[in-house]
Amino acid sequence: MSTTLFIGLGNMGSPMALLHARAFPTAVFDLSADAVAHVTGESPATAVADLAELPEGVDTVILMLPTSRHVERVLRGDDGLFARLPEGALVIDMGSSEPGSTRELAAEGATRSIDYVDAPVSGGVIKAVSGELAIMVGGADDAVARAMSHLEVLGGSIVHVGPAGAGDAAKALNNLVSASNIAVASEALVVAESFGIEPATMIEVLNAATGRSQSSELKFPRYVLTGTFDSGFAYDLMLKDITIAMGMTDGLDIPVTRTVFDRLRDGRPQLGDHPDHTEIARLYGLGENRTTSQEENE
Ligand code: NAD
Repeated sequence: MSTTLFIGLGNMGSPMALLHARAFPTAVFDLSADAVAHVTGESPATAVADLAELPEGVDTVILMLPTSRHVERVLRGDDGLFARLPEGALVIDMGSSEPGSTRELAAEGATRSIDYVDAPVSGGVIKAVSGELAIMVGGADDAVARAMSHLEVLGGSIVHVGPAGAGDAAKALNNLVSASNIAVASEALVVAESFGIEPATMIEVLNAATGRSQSSELKFPRYVLTGTFDSGFAYDLMLKDITIAMGMTDGLDIPVTRTVFDRLRDGRPQLGDHPDHTEIARLYGLGENRTTSQEENE
């Protein structure tokens, strides 16, 4: 039986694997046995205890790993999946990876008749759970066509943006805009407060006006003004993404991008261990000891 191996069951991979396993025969692997047990306990997915022993029938692999280094480690080398998958297999990398690494991996896969698609996602844990992720896809037309039935289970929007690596490039640029929105909205709230306007009031204004963004509509009310900072997307992963975006800017005039990048990189040591990406707002003192309209309503 044709089986998909889903590797990487973290904040995003876990809900995505659950949806995938309800639609297709799916085997799951993560370095965390607890993560594997959670997915196999809640869906028909079967557990893989060790990648050295691939289950029978695996012809498709979906990766949801933190960085390109993790992806390369799983695919390359004598014990890597490229060496052990059958000819004609399909690899779909859904993490936010580096376009250059992805292009190289796609070329290596091709030498073994393995199709390779980059299909990073946006929408966070909430859209991963509901199967409404925005998916941006890079790869050859026939490889993308093969990946489509898997992506349709996970995404609300699927855009084929170009050849291998193009999906990853689009994803890095999306997160550059997303991080910039948090930073500039944070600055607007600080300025507003200096005029005596409460942060929650200013967010209400932005959301009724043209300054709104997904950050002002969702992240500020839910994670920043409440001070919970628990969106499930790590600051360090966001910093990785905007570092990828910066790496694409050689020779281009990007003063705003450079400023946002410098602010987030230089602010990182202020935030301690494992900050959430919404803690960009904490660089401006937001979200601490504040009364929010949400608390007032409780
Ligand atoms: P995470 O850190 O929560 O999960 C990563 C998982 O990969 C962990 O469970 C870890 O044990 C596992 N892992 C690491 N190395 C492994 C290996 N060699 N073999 C098997 N499993 C391994 O990360 P996440 O938040 O789920 O993000 C995954 C990817 O998706 C990243 O590239 C991230 O940038 C991207 N992304 C995240 C979000 C979000 O909201 N969290 C949104 C969009 C995109």
